[in-house]
Amino acid sequence: MNPTLAASSQHVASQHVGGLSFGLSDDQRLIVGAVRDYARAEIAPRSAAYDRSGEFPREQLRGLAALGLLGATVPEQWGGAGLDSVTYALCLEEVAAADASVAVIVSVHNGLPEQMLLLHGNDEQRERYLRPLASGAALGAFCLTEPEAGSDAASLNLRATRDGDGWILNGSKAWITSGGQADTYLVLARSGGEGAHGVSCFIVEKGWEGLSFGKPEDKLGLHAAHSTTVQFDAVRVPAANLLGREGEGLSIALASLDAGRVGIAMQAVGIARAAYQHAARYALSREQFGRPIAEYQGISFKIADMAAQIEAARLVALKAAWLHAQGRPFGREASIAKLLASEAAVNVTREAVQVFGANGYSRDYPVERLYRDAKATEIYEGTSEIQRRVIARSVFQEFGS
Ligand SMILES: Cc1cc2nc3c(=O)[nH]c(=O)nc-3n(C[C@H](O)[C@H](O)[C@H](O)COP(=O)(O)OP(=O)(O)OC[C@H]3O[C@@H](n4cnc5c(N)ncnc54)[C@H](O)[C@@H]3O)c2cc1C
Repeated sequence: MNPTLAASSQHVASQHVGGLSFGLSDDQRLIVGAVRDYARAEIAPRSAAYDRSGEFPREQLRGLAALGLLGATVPEQWGGAGLDSVTYALCLEEVAAADASVAVIVSVHNGLPEQMLLLHGNDEQRERYLRPLASGAALGAFCLTEPEAGSDAASLNLRATRDGDGWILNGSKAWITSGGQADTYLVLARSGGEGAHGVSCFIVEKGWEGLSFGKPEDKLGLHAAHSTTVQFDAVRVPAANLLGREGEGLSIALASLDAGRVGIAMQAVGIARAAYQHAARYALSREQFGRPIAEYQGISFKIADMAAQIEAARLVALKAAWLHAQGRPFGREASIAKLLASEAAVNVTREAVQVFGANGYSRDYPVERLYRDAKATEIYEGTSEIQRRVIARSVFQEFGS
């Protein structure tokens, strides 16, 4: 593990004037700065080429693993960097500002398989699966969505049937980030009757007989982050690879999705920030009617709106991360953060294309890619409509319904 991150803070900034602090500790600044430097030097210069080729960003992931970011919030006891959720969130913004594909791979790996193993695995499972994930020696994937079960996750159909003291898995998953590239798959399968309580979670290794992967989806953006189907044809899973108890799978997955959503919110903030910075620089340099277009209110107001939306999105996302770091409930805040940040990312990147004019519509300029990448943040880990459902349910609960 990288000594820089190993020496990381467990603390949010210590100055609490007025009871609230927006400052970072020295450790946090150091850690986020190290990730920013790496992302700027090694990730950003290659993101356009990876978008074109669709190559999986192995080299970039190795670099982030060396910095400790593939086991960011995993305690040092299990080989992680032991960062608090706020520091990790800020690191993710830096990665996303450089390359949204790398950021979603990192966010899924940290937010879902690792959190699920950390919170619900036994020590044997943590030793065997969490430790290599945390060091970056292995990559994790989260398998919930199926061709016929997306937002309605409780209707999933992949079947887990008892076989002696183990299980046999049959069925298919869809849209799995890092499908075929990851080593460890956390798979939600129906081991019992209908509904949420019939779902269990299994740890499945790449290379097991009967496990196969489709080709990467030909998608709008995030080309370097492969999304594939995962096919289970009589995959035998030992009893020791049931995560948590039988029937607990969906609650394990949904609880970790709260952390995952904060990660996606920060991915969205990073994408939006990159687009806004490109747009502001372009507005100052591009001249029409004898002046930089930044001098026209129609353009400068767009830049101002971008700055305002990004600031607001970052603040709500960091509040959710802060609640998580404090061990307090943060489900509603995670959904609010994911909703606002993803919508901000789509708005900001769309307006950035507008600021660039025809050049914004060209693959020779980065805002076109950022616009395509941003859209996915409104869809995965719960669509915007599902976030609104979660928020509304939480609001009505408060009013006693
Ligand atoms: C790039 C990418 C990566 C992904 N990675 C993963 C991954 O790693 N693991 C994984 O398990 N899944 C992954 N997904 C899948 C993703 O989580 C699902 O696409 C998402 O949950 C939505 O499901 P769906 O696509 O089936 O849409 P559907 O559920 O079919 O929804 C279609 C539309 O109907 C709306 N809708 C549905 N139900 C309601 C309702 N009750 N009220 C109002 N509106 C509703 C939705 O908001 C949406 O607009 C990924 C998806 C993408 C695009």
